[in-house]
Amino acid sequence: MMNDPYAALGVRRRINAAGALTRLGGAVMAPEVVEAMAAASRASVDIGELQDAASTRIAEATGAEAGLVTTGAAAALTLAAAASIARWDVARMAALPHGDFPRDILIPRTHRTGYAHALAASGARLVDIGHNDRGTGAGVRGLEAWEIEAALSPAVVAMAFSVNATSLADLPTAIAACRAAGIPLIVDAAAQLPPKENLKRFTALGADLVAFSGGKALGGPQASGILAGKRDLVASALLQQLDMDVAPETWSPPKLVDRANLRGLPHHGIGRGFKAGKEEIVGLLMALDRFVKADDTADNARLEARLKTIAAELDGHKVTLVPASITGRVPVLEIAVSEALAVSARLQRGDPPVHLSERHAARGVLTLDPQVLLPEHDAPLAAALRAVL
Ligand SMILES: *Cc1c(COP(=O)(O)O)cnc(C)c1O
Repeated sequence: MMNDPYAALGVRRRINAAGALTRLGGAVMAPEVVEAMAAASRASVDIGELQDAASTRIAEATGAEAGLVTTGAAAALTLAAAASIARWDVARMAALPHGDFPRDILIPRTHRTGYAHALAASGARLVDIGHNDRGTGAGVRGLEAWEIEAALSPAVVAMAFSVNATSLADLPTAIAACRAAGIPLIVDAAAQLPPKENLKRFTALGADLVAFSGGKALGGPQASGILAGKRDLVASALLQQLDMDVAPETWSPPKLVDRANLRGLPHHGIGRGFKAGKEEIVGLLMALDRFVKADDTADNARLEARLKTIAAELDGHKVTLVPASITGRVPVLEIAVSEALAVSARLQRGDPPVHLSERHAARGVLTLDPQVLLPEHDAPLAAALRAVL
């Protein structure tokens, strides 16, 4: 079990050229991260104190006032929504996900990803705004300030924004409108790393809360993430995640939490079911530190060299190397195939099973994404592709 837990369980190892997908276990962690987690597991600490330390580190890395380690970006979104609704109000924290108080969150129709469910899980009521002209190809216009302003009401507590290379252009508009309305803007930046500049980018533009995955490009534990943002909102999120089975007389709150703002002690909050463990907190911080110090240019050059070697083995097939400067993250190989999903299914059924990204399958492309591809898998991957293509 120790040396090969998967073999002991009869679970097959897979060649992952699809990216740090949650269903394939997310990132593959560096030995330093694993060792930090193991060391963390062998002691008792105050989780609030540990989250205070995490907040300082996350603030340094993101430029935000404060930060919190969550159990993923989806958890960060739920907590961000809960914080926007409850703020310092312990009665609202206790009532979520129900309640007769304001809990509307505006969400542009172009930003309605499957992860909007994580916002709604807080008890927020999602209010769709704007048009999906760009997403449907019907037109050129994106989000406009008047569409946000027209949807504002006293019930609106926040606005959600799913950032990517396309939607980024609308971010300043959303930020300005939210500022004017006095509501926080919650940015889903789960998969917007690398480049590492994006750790600071959305906060610098004025986003109030930003969610990142820890188990994707950051290379942290699979079940980890970051919520970075305004101190009061992060503190509210932390309170709704912490174990609150404490005696008021002996509780020493985290420094992030100013007890004078609380009329009493909250009970277990909406986030109690996705508590971040000491191992995840320490592992995420170690991974964040490594990510900030990494040399993206050198890493991408190494990945490109590996992709070129694999592409050379696929002679006769239509293979295009798309550099990091175009993808905005890591270089990838695009492999043109007819019946992309059928080919993908055959690869997944192989021995060993091989996964390519299906994100462009609709246009007849399987994408070889090397983000978490182990170097020792390059040769068997090329062989499997040759066999199936
Ligand atoms: C992956 C992803 C999430 C969820 O992140 P987890 O860390 O797995 O919880 C949320 N939003 C987007 C856009 C994502 O790509």
